[in-house]
Amino acid sequence: MNVYDSEQIAIQLAAAGYQQTPLLEKADLVILNTCTVRAKAEQKAFSFLGRLARLKKKKPGLITAVGGCVAQQEGAKILERVPHLDLVFGTQAIDRLPDLIGKIETKRCRIVDVAMAEQPDPFDAAPAADHHSQVARFVTIMRGCDNYCTYCVVPYVRGREASRHPDRIMEEIKLLVGSGVKEVTLLGQNVNSYGKKEGLLSFAELLFRVQTIEGLLRIRFTTSHPKDLDQDLIDAFRANEKLCSHIHLPVQSGSNRMLKRMNRNYTRELYLDKVAKLRDTCPGIAITSDMIVGFPGESDADFDETLDLMRKVEFDGLFAFMYSDRPNAPATQFKAKISEPLKRERLQILLEMQETYTKKKNEGLIGSIQTIIAEGFSKRQSAASLDEPNPAAQWSGRTATNKIVNFYHQAISGNGGAIFPGKLVQVKIEKAYAHSLWGKPVDIDSTAGGLKGEKSYAA
Ligand code: SF4
Repeated sequence: MNVYDSEQIAIQLAAAGYQQTPLLEKADLVILNTCTVRAKAEQKAFSFLGRLARLKKKKPGLITAVGGCVAQQEGAKILERVPHLDLVFGTQAIDRLPDLIGKIETKRCRIVDVAMAEQPDPFDAAPAADHHSQVARFVTIMRGCDNYCTYCVVPYVRGREASRHPDRIMEEIKLLVGSGVKEVTLLGQNVNSYGKKEGLLSFAELLFRVQTIEGLLRIRFTTSHPKDLDQDLIDAFRANEKLCSHIHLPVQSGSNRMLKRMNRNYTRELYLDKVAKLRDTCPGIAITSDMIVGFPGESDADFDETLDLMRKVEFDGLFAFMYSDRPNAPATQFKAKISEPLKRERLQILLEMQETYTKKKNEGLIGSIQTIIAEGFSKRQSAASLDEPNPAAQWSGRTATNKIVNFYHQAISGNGGAIFPGKLVQVKIEKAYAHSLWGKPVDIDSTAGGLKGEKSYAA
């Protein structure tokens, strides 16, 4: 969500005459886009803001701004805490940024703009696309959340749930595809409830509409709330040929007692039932999740229930976190807080267990041929080589199940031809690592395995 918002900030400011620079020291304007979902992210934000003081001393004309959820939550308090800061802007102020920055440029004043729209807030943002040559991009389809999980600040800092009109979404994706994008990830805090409040399309219907866009190869989405995952969406994994076989379905705990205290509105039984339906409908679908350890009151028995659920599901990947109190979140007031050492111990157990499943899943793909979209050079590729063609370049892309595959361009055989970002490549998987796969390209531009490459699964 923040990556998408940062792109929107860049688009707004480009129209106001600003260009992005990779060098902090060269910037005339520094914007920090923040996240407050966990205490650690907020601490990091304040530590970065502190470091900006030195830069501002060297360059007094520098404009410094902070946006995102910490800005929305703390508002004017940040200006008091960070004396060298010029602007605090909230989650709904992105389209007002050019005006706000303009005022600071001319009047050298300090501004706080954390105003949120009155409810209900129609979300009808015009399409925004730029010319960054990326293969995969995010597209926001809704904002805010109505779920009020007791540990979460999103409803307070991003407002109530509002869905974007499907016509605007389609326009934006078509613009992106026109500039070379092949894959979009539709974003929302709970995409499964897309359009319900406004009486728009259902999310499954939206996915089928997006599927019709010519030139678009793949669709992903995040995030799904288990309570709202319906059969139509489950069926879409089979019927929608561009919808990737991966779902991120945050469970947060395997204990019904904890799920109730978290206000998640589902049980472990319902979650396991949805997982079974997904796997029945779309064998080979990758399921990833989020888990919180050390939620207030979590007993050893509750934690065992979480481990038991993990054994039953065998997630492809897991984002696990230690619970931390967040301002405004109801759980902050809950008694029976878990000690930091116990939280750390539980996190460690959970991560070690998950590692075995991730390894097992990845190793199961060795020998299979996966369809990936070449996204660019792999992370390990040296930056220097990006400037010149390099036949030994290490490329990277993702499977339909969202696993990263790295490979050498030079290893191509079969259909041959050049690889460039956006090309469909069939890759034979040779090695499995903890966070990626390694393979050898065997064909380019072939859709023999379908866009998802599912027909090529080894097992
Ligand atoms: S569903 Fe719950 S955890 Fe997710 S954004 Fe909404 S309130 Fe937060």
